[in-house]
Amino acid sequence: MTAERSPFPGPRPDSAAARTEGREVSAPSDHRAPDLETEWARAVKAIDGAAEICLACHIRPDGDALGSMLAVAQALRVRGAADRPRGSAPPRVIASFGELPLRIPRILRFLPGTDLLTPPDAVPGRPQVMMTFDAASADRLGMLEANAARAEELIVLDHHASNTSFGTVNLIDQDAAATAVLAHELIGRLGVPVSRDIALGLYAGLVTDTGSFRYSNTSPGVHLLAARLLETGIDPGGVAHELWDRAPFGFLGLLSAVLGRAELEPAGPGRYGLVWTTVTRADRAAHGLPFEAAESVIDVLRRTDEADVAVVLKEDDDGLWQVSARAKGAADVGRACVALGGGGHPRAAGFTAQGPAADVMAALRHQLAAGRPGAAGSGAGAADTGP
Ligand code: 5GP
Ligand code: MN
Repeated sequence: MTAERSPFPGPRPDSAAARTEGREVSAPSDHRAPDLETEWARAVKAIDGAAEICLACHIRPDGDALGSMLAVAQALRVRGAADRPRGSAPPRVIASFGELPLRIPRILRFLPGTDLLTPPDAVPGRPQVMMTFDAASADRLGMLEANAARAEELIVLDHHASNTSFGTVNLIDQDAAATAVLAHELIGRLGVPVSRDIALGLYAGLVTDTGSFRYSNTSPGVHLLAARLLETGIDPGGVAHELWDRAPFGFLGLLSAVLGRAELEPAGPGRYGLVWTTVTRADRAAHGLPFEAAESVIDVLRRTDEADVAVVLKEDDDGLWQVSARAKGAADVGRACVALGGGGHPRAAGFTAQGPAADVMAALRHQLAAGRPGAAGSGAGAADTGP
């Protein structure tokens, strides 16, 4: 959905500049700018005064979205009466994401706190306080977009440069490597110690969005935060195994089929070297695999030396293309995907489309060419971050 169709007002005047100038270089909490400080104070005040807090992450959640939300959900539940103003009663905490049935991706089922999730149709229609995680725009909340639009106070916790600032409180820091960095900051400000279970959610977010400390958003602060989280006793090998190192046998057949038909379009005038493929419903049905099995294909495709841009068109169960795009730095896939109604970061972005795959790719090629440095409407020069 575009900003024009959104039921949300535009950015709050005092939050639009909630951006830091430099990259995080020392400690995990050093990312905040002075105006973000005001937003943090407003967020804590709203949480302190709430009898009920609804948490929502983006649909088809990844480790950062779900891990951050479950970490905060657990922190809010364990927050002792002594930590709250005037010993007030604990708020009711509801955590969800806007799709029915509520299907937790298999690779994220190891996260502590999944038992706290509520189906979206049981989320209050007009939450007193609602908080969103890793959602760059309101439409990424799926079925819960309407609830967010009606919330008295809407706290947006996110790190996408493309975030539309759709909250009443916008905790948006594009220099944060993951939403989990901001979730950790919030938990600290609420005075809740980071338990092993809370750390596991935050760590899952951190490793998901830094590609296990491989992407160039892996700052010293990221490693400092990872160290603090590991100190709680979580097992990094176990997390990596759950997230990336396992799949049913059928996945090998799917990978073989979709990599076998990948196309390489070498760089030429007006173009970036590009590699792309599709994962159709038929591919998945042939191997008995759910949509999420298509998610990791991009991680293989993006290795292609000859291509700066890698693209996977993943057909979902409704027949829509969920497009994943990655770039190595020459192209800005975030700008191109935003132009096509999606969002993301310069090096990792996506959008939703329908129609023949060839047409979707033609539209994307057009946007990539338009974004080349020197081209009209070029958005080159954006910050370099991971998903
Ligand atoms: P992925 O390819 O891993 O699904 O997503 C990469 C990045 O693009 C993430 O930051 C994700 O939030 C964003 N993204 C992916 N698909 C969409 C989409 O359909 N709409 C929007 N707004 N962002 C997307
Ligand atoms: Mn993220």
